[in-house]
Amino acid sequence: MCGIVGYIGKRKALPILIQGIRNLEYRGYDSAGIAVLDGEKMYVERAVGRVANLEAKLPKRSVEGGLGIVHSRWATHGGVTEANAHPHTDCAGNIHLVHNGIIENYKELKEMLAARGHTFASETDTEILAHLIEDFYAKAKQPKTRFEDAVRAALKKVHGTYGLAILSRDNPDKLIAVRNFSPLLLGIGKKEYFIASDASAVMKYTRKVVYLEDGEMAVLTPRGYHISDLENRRRTRRPERLEWSMKKIQKGGFPHFMLKEIFEQPEAIMNSTRGRMVLKTGEVMLGGLREVKDELKTAKRVLLVGCGTAYLAGKAAEGMFEEFVGIPAQSYLASELRYREPVFQKGDVAFFVSQSGETADTLAALRELKRHKIPVFGVVNAVGSTIARETDAGVYQHVGPEIAVASTKAFTSQVTILALIAVMMGRMRGLPPKKAKEVLGAIKALPDELQKVLAQNNAIKKMAKKYLHYDNFLYLGRKYNLPAALEGALKIKEIAYVHAEGMSIGEMKHGRSR
Ligand code: GLU
Repeated sequence: MCGIVGYIGKRKALPILIQGIRNLEYRGYDSAGIAVLDGEKMYVERAVGRVANLEAKLPKRSVEGGLGIVHSRWATHGGVTEANAHPHTDCAGNIHLVHNGIIENYKELKEMLAARGHTFASETDTEILAHLIEDFYAKAKQPKTRFEDAVRAALKKVHGTYGLAILSRDNPDKLIAVRNFSPLLLGIGKKEYFIASDASAVMKYTRKVVYLEDGEMAVLTPRGYHISDLENRRRTRRPERLEWSMKKIQKGGFPHFMLKEIFEQPEAIMNSTRGRMVLKTGEVMLGGLREVKDELKTAKRVLLVGCGTAYLAGKAAEGMFEEFVGIPAQSYLASELRYREPVFQKGDVAFFVSQSGETADTLAALRELKRHKIPVFGVVNAVGSTIARETDAGVYQHVGPEIAVASTKAFTSQVTILALIAVMMGRMRGLPPKKAKEVLGAIKALPDELQKVLAQNNAIKKMAKKYLHYDNFLYLGRKYNLPAALEGALKIKEIAYVHAEGMSIGEMKHGRSR
């Protein structure tokens, strides 16, 4: 979900890689790492935090090799530690790879690989890929078997999203790029080639790029590149010329991050729900809540706590818990809850919603509820954040970093995840499978539905222009649309600094806003 850069060519890879990953820093990340083939040896370094921390660890001597990969990580599986930072490697230390995305079936694969004798050095989903490729590579290592065939065979076993840059010590003239629902492109230079998750990483060196499509793999050598699919059918793609400025490229062509993130919503919802719904049976699988099943099964009331937009995500979910689980649900503003004397009952469970996992009021309310011995769970985007650590259990959003101050993709993902939780709890206590399937089907359809709304961009823009100079906005809604109305008003205030109010439509004549 964050950054990948790869290089193969005549120049020293290391400074090019560092420069490239620096250009991707704007995307936000939690750790970084690099691997460069330096003669016979693989030079590997990883660091938690900024790229500058990684740079501080680089050796004084020059690392000569012209083949390497670098990564900036946004943790999804496993905490933010040096051991979990990429690149990851196999048992033999031969294969090194970096990955953006999520491997959905990593648990099964890990068990299978462990049974075959592989040992693991990290908690990530990514690491299993290195071992899986190793397994196929070793199995097939007849004189004629190529590294890329092992990569293909391994990836056929993998479900999930990935942008990958892969190299191995015994293939000093090969760099492999594979894409499945995570952006990846090739930069075409003169006798040198690049891989990048975002064009801004390579723009300094070349403006000629090839965007890989889902299911495509590129094998790069210092002499050229070859694109195929996982069945090894050749794909031809004409390079494109990047005409955009660096600034524009960093925002994916959008004028600002908020718009970019609004357009990332279909993908964000896909990542939040991937592998978590069984449409055929109406089951929801949320690994992060497995351990607290009993508390969820016997809960008598659900409290939903957050600030601002995250509070409204909770408010949107209130009705879902009532409707699907059949127990009372109540949303709280964390900043109010912490200063009140709330009355808790046995059977209360609380969900704390926070994109960053660091929201101060939410954290204070969380600690307060813990003091009252209420089971506390999180719906958080940032892996390993304070709220994620201090809750008893929880669900990660997996929507990637949100750069804009105003929450967009994180909000819709929070509502979606809370809906999944409500369905899961509902199924534990008699929600008919038919109803569950119906809700999950609607969630599954969300990315496409969102796409239809986003396609109306120009019409929406026209409407915004029409009302640009108005001073007051009233947003009205009922039931699930009331929190949407409140959120609409919040956004106008937050972004346009114009007064706005969200109201229950039924309360229009009584004047109550929430
Ligand atoms: N799922 C991987 C991890 O947690 C990759 C994260 C990323 O996209 O940066 O390490």
